[in-house]
Amino acid sequence: MKKFINKGLKLTPQRAAIFEYLDGNKSHPSAEDIYLEIKKRYPMTSFATVYKTLEALKSRGDIVELSVDPGRRRYDPDTGPHHHLMCIRCKKIVDIHKDFSLKVPEEAKVSFDITGNHIEFYGICPDCKKKGGVENGSI
Ligand SMILES: [Zn+2]
Ligand SMILES: [Zn+2]
Repeated sequence: MKKFINKGLKLTPQRAAIFEYLDGNKSHPSAEDIYLEIKKRYPMTSFATVYKTLEALKSRGDIVELSVDPGRRRYDPDTGPHHHLMCIRCKKIVDIHKDFSLKVPEEAKVSFDITGNHIEFYGICPDCKKKGGVENGSI
């Protein structure tokens, strides 16, 4: 929560609720998820308000937008370097906080100095594995 305060954004109750919801949130929610959650407490909240707040936070570097889910933009308040693993059935995204010693071959670097990476892994989560079968959804 602290990192979202004093950012020059006028702190309306809706915005405070958005910050609170995102703070320490590990579920990588989409704008729709956040909207539905805030609407429960503030029924007058519009999707535009939620979206604009997310855009503002993103441009300030307080949250990052993920492209791991091709269906929806997902947001991550954890802006430190980490990788993501998404379940292709239920679209759950989990963090991978582990540094891989990935080496890009010299000829593939085309003279770039590489400063970071973000890897998106896809798989089937334990819950979906338990359900089994392909009838529970495909990509
Ligand atoms: Zn799953
Ligand atoms: Zn993450």
